[in-house]
Amino acid sequence: MTSAEPEAVSASEDTEATCATCGAPVETDEWHPAASTKRGDGAVQILSFCDHSCRDRWQERAE
Ligand SMILES: [Zn+2]
Repeated sequence: MTSAEPEAVSASEDTEATCATCGAPVETDEWHPAASTKRGDGAVQILSFCDHSCRDRWQERAE
């Protein structure tokens, strides 16, 4: 039997993200919870979360 070689995952470049709440790596090529927040200088920042619960936790903190 020929075993298929695992595809080499391209090194993460600008798609690397971490959960804004717990810091776990987030796979940005798959769907993931996200939220936008305004920073002090007015720039909009997109936050990524590994899970719904982490996004909820972030929202509770932000309020
Ligand atoms: Zn998380």
